Amino acid sequence: MAGEKGQDPRRALPATGRVTEQLAAAHPELPAWARTAGARAALAAAREALARPKAAVPGEAELVADAALRAGRLAAGRPGRVINATGVVLHTNLGRAVLAPGAAAAVAEAASHASDLELDLGSGARGRRLDAVAEKLVLLSGAEAALAVNNNAAAVLLALDSLGRGREVVVSRGELVEIGGSFRVPEILERAGVRLVEVGTTNRTHARDYEAAIGPDTALLLKVHRSNFEQRGFVAEVELGELAAIAHAHELPLVEDLGSGTLVSLEAHGFPAEACAPARLRQGADLVCFSGDKLLGGPQAGIALGRRAIVDAMSRSPLARALRLDKLTLVALDWTLRALLEGRGEAEIPSLRQLLARAEALRPEAEELAKRLSDVAGGAAEVAVERDRSAVGGGSLPGLELATWVVVLRVAAGPDALAAALRRAPLPVVARIRDDAVVLDVRTLLEDDPAALCDAVVFALEALAI
Ligand SMILES: *Cc1c(COP(=O)(O)O)cnc(C)c1O
Repeated sequence: MAGEKGQDPRRALPATGRVTEQLAAAHPELPAWARTAGARAALAAAREALARPKAAVPGEAELVADAALRAGRLAAGRPGRVINATGVVLHTNLGRAVLAPGAAAAVAEAASHASDLELDLGSGARGRRLDAVAEKLVLLSGAEAALAVNNNAAAVLLALDSLGRGREVVVSRGELVEIGGSFRVPEILERAGVRLVEVGTTNRTHARDYEAAIGPDTALLLKVHRSNFEQRGFVAEVELGELAAIAHAHELPLVEDLGSGTLVSLEAHGFPAEACAPARLRQGADLVCFSGDKLLGGPQAGIALGRRAIVDAMSRSPLARALRLDKLTLVALDWTLRALLEGRGEAEIPSLRQLLARAEALRPEAEELAKRLSDVAGGAAEVAVERDRSAVGGGSLPGLELATWVVVLRVAAGPDALAAALRRAPLPVVARIRDDAVVLDVRTLLEDDPAALCDAVVFALEALAI
């Protein structure tokens, strides 16, 4: 069968057992399950590569090294901690908002003990898990009623399902947006079983367009925040107040998917007024939905505020059970809402603090970090402090740029190699690349991060020197 062996190079690959054995010898610290899975995955990848013409059979050392990499990735806890040095506060790929230490502690307590999740301790009767959070949301927003579900996409889905199933929903063509690839407004509408009635054009929608589209089958008007892009130039949209007047003249509800919302106005800090959910209700929206882990700075959740009849209909929907919050998220959300009620938001909610940090306050932090990095880098990197701009992120407020100060690193190997080495550090650092430099934005660094960042830079420079 030697001829066949020559024809199919995949037969030249070692057996899984052999790779696993060598991996165990080289990396006894990796758990056995991960070593076996890593060896299998490395061999499968090698077989796939060999199916292509002219592929060379990898050496055994190469296979073991690949298996070790795969096994290491499997064995590591995921998602694992990283340092966000990008300056993007609500970085979608890095988990958006970071919970306040107090919220995280409350989560740990609730996670490892029994709780009165669905028990009224006063009467001993069954309690409702959402009541406490809903009450605080009402206190903060002035809304008639409130509901929290698993994420904002779920809140919008639940609202459409409860109000519009089998009927028509009117939306501007300028708001049929895609957010983060997995949330497309037309697709959510379809899934909710409502019929989409598009009005206006991509750049301009007028009051008369909505008026003309309303008919006997219309269930609601929907306004969607564009979130991750801006329209400029020859554009027109119907302001929320005017849209509410149109809806109410036809006895229809106006629902807004605000995407990123706050419960307290950040206008004094230069944030747009439209981000404040309670203000949207005052302008006439009957229901406003937004994420818990964007501008609010809490856990992943979808918050719906508005008319009692609408919130009650949403709560009664069978979908509500499928989309409900788990107890750990509930605890984190409750803590975050209490911090806001007590005026501790900016002081204690990390993403809020980062969003509101002023450039002049960040400058000394950047200078201190640059000094530490110069000390550890020796001559291996050029270190400088420069002005730059941070972004809000999370598909929130794309037009808002936050002036910041950054530490800029330049190395002979170039910025891509340095950024890659920083991502491979034991505590990985995610940074930005600008021109020929790696940019470390102090805005998104947490308390313990600067020391860990220095360690990561030492690691990266050593890796690059080899
Ligand atoms: C972010 C966003 C969503 C999705 O929110 P999730 O909490 O991620 O589900 C929906 N609509 C808009 C307008 C958004 O900005």
